[in-house]
Amino acid sequence: MSVIMCKYGCLSDTDENPDFSYDEKEGYTCANCAENEVDEWRMRQYERDQQDMFDSPDLNWSGLR
Ligand SMILES: [Zn+2]
Repeated sequence: MSVIMCKYGCLSDTDENPDFSYDEKEGYTCANCAENEVDEWRMRQYERDQQDMFDSPDLNWSGLR
C-alpha cells in the first residue's frame, strides 16, 4: 500500500486509485482531482466556444449585427 499526497492536498491510495499523474513541478495529482481538472478544462473550452459564437459576426448570437 502506498499513499500519495496530491497537489490539491488530498491523500490518495495508489493501490485503490492507480490512475494518478505526476508532474515534476506540481507534484502528484490523484485520479479524482485529475478528473476534476479535465471537467474544469472542458467547461472553460465550452464557455470559450460559446463566447466565440456570441462574438462571431457570422453566427450573430448577440443579435447586434
Ligand atoms: Zn487530489
